[in-house]
Amino acid sequence: MTRRIFRAICLVSIVVLLASLALTMGVLYDYFSGTQRQQLKTQTMLASQGAANEGWAYFDGLDTEGYRITWISPDGKVIYDNQTDAAGMENHLDREEVREALDTGYGESSRYSSTLTERLLYSAARLPDGSVIRLSGTQYTMLTLVLAILQPVLVIFAFALAASLLFASRLSKKIVGPLNSLDLDHPLKNTRYPELSPLLDRLDSQQRQLRRHAAELRRRQEELETVTDNMSEGIVLLNEKGRVLSINHRALTLLCTEGCVGESIYTSVSSKEVLELIDAARGGVSTEKIIDLGDGRYQFNTNPVITDAAVTGIALIIFDITEKERSEQMRREFTANVSHELKTPLHSISGCAELMKNGIVRQEDIPRFSGQIYSEAQRMIRLVDDIIRLSRLDEGSDAMRFERLDLYESAAATVKNLEDAAGRAGVEISLQGGPAFVMGVPQLLSGIIFNLCDNAIKYNRNGGKVFVSVLEKEGRAELSVRDTGIGISPEHQDRIFERFYRVDKSHSQEVGGTGLGLSIVKHAARLHKAEIKLESSPGEGSCFTVLFPAAD
Ligand code: ADP
Repeated sequence: MTRRIFRAICLVSIVVLLASLALTMGVLYDYFSGTQRQQLKTQTMLASQGAANEGWAYFDGLDTEGYRITWISPDGKVIYDNQTDAAGMENHLDREEVREALDTGYGESSRYSSTLTERLLYSAARLPDGSVIRLSGTQYTMLTLVLAILQPVLVIFAFALAASLLFASRLSKKIVGPLNSLDLDHPLKNTRYPELSPLLDRLDSQQRQLRRHAAELRRRQEELETVTDNMSEGIVLLNEKGRVLSINHRALTLLCTEGCVGESIYTSVSSKEVLELIDAARGGVSTEKIIDLGDGRYQFNTNPVITDAAVTGIALIIFDITEKERSEQMRREFTANVSHELKTPLHSISGCAELMKNGIVRQEDIPRFSGQIYSEAQRMIRLVDDIIRLSRLDEGSDAMRFERLDLYESAAATVKNLEDAAGRAGVEISLQGGPAFVMGVPQLLSGIIFNLCDNAIKYNRNGGKVFVSVLEKEGRAELSVRDTGIGISPEHQDRIFERFYRVDKSHSQEVGGTGLGLSIVKHAARLHKAEIKLESSPGEGSCFTVLFPAAD
């Protein structure tokens, strides 16, 4: 803009300068040529009077420097010329000024010289005898005048040009300066040019509108980010070249680091399989694939975003299927285990029954065989009962009614029920402690106490002891079941809570175990938000402690 203003000012200055020069020269030329003509006329009149009065003698000794004087007879013959021999001159009757003088008494004309740089002015007057005196003088043409004053004009022009350049430069800067320093963030604060007011008003209203739009967009984006960041699925949006446009928190933790927005996914993600999916989506193909990342298993869905038949972006959605797969695997294992556990007693029952049916069993062996059928059937009943209990626990706590109850009372009832079994196993069971109230489901709490005490009796030695204690400790209700039994070696301690896990399977079967007792304890404890601790050493015994949150 500065340059344009500068150029415009220069151009105007030059045009004005040239125009004023031309005008001045035209006026001056006109004035001087008029004056010159007037002077020539005056002198012609004087010369004609002189010649009329004195004849030839008038021209003797007259200073005619710069003028040509010609005397022409009424028939056009030149009778005197102060610069040329009159006899050799042609007849002048057809000359315009001569004819005019003969007709009217005075005539004048002008003719250009052959070089066009000079103009000859002619002025003729008729004498009383009919002859004509003609004077001619040289007048410079416009071109000659221009050439003559060219040098000073150029000097003036150069000065004027320099001055106008300087002026134009300063002026343009002065005009543009305030424009450059306009405070566009606060348009209404600029007061230098009142002419800019409409523009600044408009700018201000547009800026306010833009701010409103930007705030609205920000709000929407924040809403979207809050929603996507709290989703358990990962979401990534890429442009058609694979540059990350947006990524939610879940996808960020899985795929790349914090600063990957705006970067190429090819530099941020190292998984070859994920990049292959993105390549396919860039080619316009939607894909679904399960990929293992770290400890987890994820389902990746990639879809191209197609606009006007061209891929303009890629949407990647990641589902965490680790837990689903794990629980499916557990279910599969559980089903296989249940079938296996049921098959063994069923085979045994079926075998015994077949022998008895075929009459192969001797009469005295029948009680033994039928006893085995009975104990295997009991084992199956226990197993099925435990499975039913576990599946109820798996279903959740919705149907279970929590109530405030004394853990000590439940323990006392269970211990009493188990006293006979303990006696048969040669184990002494005792309860100590006092009331400790918890919020719980009565059957589940009894189940926890029963399974722990039952195990403590089953995995004990003849003459061993089981100490059950219930007390309130540090604001919690503590149930502990300690035995002096076979103990559990450290490598098994974490695993005994798994379904069907047994340290010694045959021993467990011998004592009527199903392998599900501690799983039920773990599940029920979790539903009561209780914590289980185990201390055990092989040969010395075990101590299971369950810490319940106390009831208010
Ligand atoms: P089970 O029906 O076989 O007793 P549990 O789930 O109750 O199944 O226990 C799992 C395994 O943990 C048992 O088979 C046994 O090997 C071990 N166990 C449980 N309680 C004790 C204990 N008090 N002393 C020694 N081992 C135990």
